[in-house]
Amino acid sequence: MSKLYKILLKQHIGAVNKPVISVGDFVRKGTLIAEPSGLGANIHSSIDGRVKEIDKDAIFIEADKVQREGFQSLDNTGSIIDTIKAAGIVGMGGAGFPTHVKLNVHLNGGVVIANAVECEPLLVHNMKQIIEAPELIYKGLCYAMEASNAKRGVFAIKAKNKEAIAALQKVIKKDNIQIAELPDMYPMGEERAIIREVLGQLLAPDQLPSAADAVVLNVETLSRITEAIEQKRPVISKNITIVGKLKSGIESKAFMDVPIGTTVRELIEAAGGIDGEYGEIIMGGPFTGVSVDIDQAITKTSGGIIVTMPFMKEKRRMGLLVCACGANEQRLREIAAKMGASIAGVEKCKQAVEIKGSLKCEDPGNCPGQAEKVLKLKKDGAEVLLISNCSDCTNTVMCVAPKLKMPIYHCTDHAMRTVNHSLIRRLK
Ligand code: SF4
Repeated sequence: MSKLYKILLKQHIGAVNKPVISVGDFVRKGTLIAEPSGLGANIHSSIDGRVKEIDKDAIFIEADKVQREGFQSLDNTGSIIDTIKAAGIVGMGGAGFPTHVKLNVHLNGGVVIANAVECEPLLVHNMKQIIEAPELIYKGLCYAMEASNAKRGVFAIKAKNKEAIAALQKVIKKDNIQIAELPDMYPMGEERAIIREVLGQLLAPDQLPSAADAVVLNVETLSRITEAIEQKRPVISKNITIVGKLKSGIESKAFMDVPIGTTVRELIEAAGGIDGEYGEIIMGGPFTGVSVDIDQAITKTSGGIIVTMPFMKEKRRMGLLVCACGANEQRLREIAAKMGASIAGVEKCKQAVEIKGSLKCEDPGNCPGQAEKVLKLKKDGAEVLLISNCSDCTNTVMCVAPKLKMPIYHCTDHAMRTVNHSLIRRLK
């Protein structure tokens, strides 16, 4: 039987795309199959095949047994922005904001920052790409600077990633492009955290990077810009990390250029298959990923696939402490339910403020102190805590909760324990 690819009609922030092909049509790798109906980005077929079905969420394509070399090149290109738009490039670090919209600014001689932080633990595909193909990312940064009239470019990367830093140093040829080495903390990859560290300017939670004359773009996004401009290649594939309870071992494995529409199941099988009983499959990173079905399709914003160990069981009453940059309340409730715990109370970090329906941190990764929130949860009847806090705030929770004899779980624990990684607790 031929393989069926499920290509979602919404792989970006904005509206659901509208299909521009019909059932029965033959498509090539790279054929435009759906266009934006509002804010959004073009979607192209990732394989050669026949359109089998279209529903309100997805286009299903039956793949040809023999896939031809190459892809259908982009037409309708012109300026850098036009080409990015035609290629359907979005923020591939997970945000999914259409890149042609983000870059359609005049930066007044400002800066484009390449987000090479790879902030979530266990993910490795960004660093692998930097080490193996730094030129592609460097050129993408140059194109993004040209498109937005930026005077300089910066690679923001954690200082611990020495090999990737060395690879970037080898390809940087312009004096106005530098490397900024950042500390190893979560959420160092948050846009406003990067701008604070690189430019020394703390933006308000409702301000965009453009308020600092800056644009922040993930490194894979930059490489896709280069591919679009130099090869006329649309976004038809995604780099993915697979890690966890796998027969091939627990270490992280990067799969590059996975066709969009591939299922999580196929990728896990390619990585050796699941090793025995497991807790859940997370799509994304340990902090902000979500639990998904094994038949979920890969999109332009997929990043990690984590197969976790079974959940630890906890019968005591649980207090939830929610971070704006980690797992949200819904996800913490889901984890608590999977552990078997009942909820005694929910508190948000006092730096977490609601902006347009979602939480944003006033100063990502700089803890305001959590004693008051921990005491409140204790008063509400919590015997244990489940938290999603950043590295710094977890550190301050650890300064209080043990004295109150309250054991702590972090939302990342089951992922980190699966691979014998140190838990998010005290800062070293
Ligand atoms: S300060 Fe609070 S809201 Fe901000 S990142 Fe840390 S835990 Fe999250």
